Amino acid sequence: MTRNETLKCQDCEGPVVVPNDPMEGEIVSCGDCGASYELVVGENGTFSLNPAEVEGEDWGE
Ligand SMILES: [Zn+2]
Repeated sequence: MTRNETLKCQDCEGPVVVPNDPMEGEIVSCGDCGASYELVVGENGTFSLNPAEVEGEDWGE
């Protein structure tokens, strides 16, 4: 069963792809700006993003 979902980056509204076998707390990244988010699985099986603080924008790359 595949349930590929794409969420919206909270920074740039770019695509944040949810893995096939998502786990609560998994770190996902925006395909456009590279922002990291923690995956939050809701009660209905819906996903939402929690900005991860492990990666700052000042790391420069
Ligand atoms: Zn982004």
